[in-house]
Amino acid sequence: MSNDDKFKKVISHAKEYGFIFQSSEIYDGLSAVYDYGQNGTELKNNIKDYWIKAMVQLNENIVNIDSAILMHPTIWKASGHVDAFNDPLIDNKDSKKRYRADVLVEEHVAKIENNILKEISKAKKKFKENFDSDQFLSTNPRVVGYKSEINKIIETFNKVLENDDLVGLKKLIEDLEIVCPISGSKNWTDVKQFNLMFGTKLGASTENATDLFLRPETAQGIFVNFLNVQKTGRLKIPFGIAQIGKAFRNEIVARQFIFRMREFEQMEMQYFIKPGTQKEWYSKWKETRLAWHLSLGLGKENYRFHDHQKLAHYADAACDIEFDFPFGFKELEGIHSRTDFDLSSHEKYSSKKIKYFDPLSNESYTPYVLETSIGLDRMFLAVFSKSLIEEELADGSKRVVLKIPKILAPKKIAILPLLKKDGLPELSKKIIEEFKWDFNTVYDEKDAIGRRYRRQDALGTPFCLTVDHQSLNDGTVTIRDRDSMIQERMKLDEVKLKIKNELDIKTWLSF
Ligand code: ATP
Repeated sequence: MSNDDKFKKVISHAKEYGFIFQSSEIYDGLSAVYDYGQNGTELKNNIKDYWIKAMVQLNENIVNIDSAILMHPTIWKASGHVDAFNDPLIDNKDSKKRYRADVLVEEHVAKIENNILKEISKAKKKFKENFDSDQFLSTNPRVVGYKSEINKIIETFNKVLENDDLVGLKKLIEDLEIVCPISGSKNWTDVKQFNLMFGTKLGASTENATDLFLRPETAQGIFVNFLNVQKTGRLKIPFGIAQIGKAFRNEIVARQFIFRMREFEQMEMQYFIKPGTQKEWYSKWKETRLAWHLSLGLGKENYRFHDHQKLAHYADAACDIEFDFPFGFKELEGIHSRTDFDLSSHEKYSSKKIKYFDPLSNESYTPYVLETSIGLDRMFLAVFSKSLIEEELADGSKRVVLKIPKILAPKKIAILPLLKKDGLPELSKKIIEEFKWDFNTVYDEKDAIGRRYRRQDALGTPFCLTVDHQSLNDGTVTIRDRDSMIQERMKLDEVKLKIKNELDIKTWLSF
């Protein structure tokens, strides 16, 4: 199946099973804005919970806050967003379609990288167990040619980005002969900067209204509360402030489902440290965040680090954790060493002293900041797309199964009476009454048992408990595992213990 087809399946499965709907669908939708349905909301909440547990509950020195979306407009001046939160845009004159100029170049590079992957897979087939990846990558003439082409492009690309050289960026697009995917033409406008913040107004009358912005990131709500939290919590450096919340960006191109939305959620943590220790914390948090991702078991090969060459105005080091989405490796999380840029800048713009007094060394200083910032919706897409699998079974039939990490599954247990009579529904309901205190449970009595299993597979429910006539006599049920499809008969107490063990947060998060 091509990546495009796979991605289409992800989108239609998300809709069909109540995970994600287009926003305002009955009015033909609102571009790049989405609603989470009944199952999507559960999955999203479970991802938040998994993040909060790892970042806050398990770290004595990290606390959680919830700051407002609307903030004083000067905050965005101080943070640099008014002047520098721009994307370079370019229009194709024939199709009238708008693109991010930097993304056009990145996608061109990704195509060449794809050619390398194709060469590798051809060679793997040819040389089988004798295939030596390192040797092939360094000696195959076609691969070597592609690599040098990529290096040349990246070198020019970094130079034009570093110098904010919009003319140079257009020239690069023309030199690479990049065409518009819609019109197929190279008829491009000049590259312009476009600010991504959404404006809004505060106040009843138009004359007196204050111009505000919807926050484009949650981080600034943490910085402006640094002293409030540090003082009231009597926190000592190093310590962190975490936050989950909505952010808004008027993205130029937003065609990748929930990967690039105009309204989305971020899970950010700002870690306040002593100046000079940022390198050490940068590598520590890179390692910790990758370990968090790997703990979910989606496969190590699906993650890679991408170090930034062009650093944002606030950073002295930065990288992304990229994930292999259905459309290739793309940013899932950013890890940024933000120096003292934000706190110093807020000190300057607010004229309030924002310093930390270190009781050990008896000195005051502006802390440095190490940030981890992950998009909740991108994390959702990563989990959902990797878990959606079409399996061929031993009898030749197919099943669609959502192998979501069990700890994140929207519903943990489906309770299924084998028949809709003989007291089986009543016993099933009794079992729900018992289990619902510990687990998110669902009852399903419609259709034959095989179809009900398939339905729960497609929803990602890890355990199905089937209640039959024997259950009435000896209090046992069969428990079916979503992934292995193995069925075992057990007493209810044993079932509870087994599920508790498999969902034990300590086991999942001990890394
Ligand atoms: P990109 O380069 O893809 O535009 P970014 O570098 O601007 O992303 P950051 O500002 O570092 O992103 O934001 C932190 C995280 O927030 C990203 O790693 C991503 O997971 C998420 N994010 C950013 N923009 C969006 C968006 N428009 N829709 C969904 N998630 C987003």
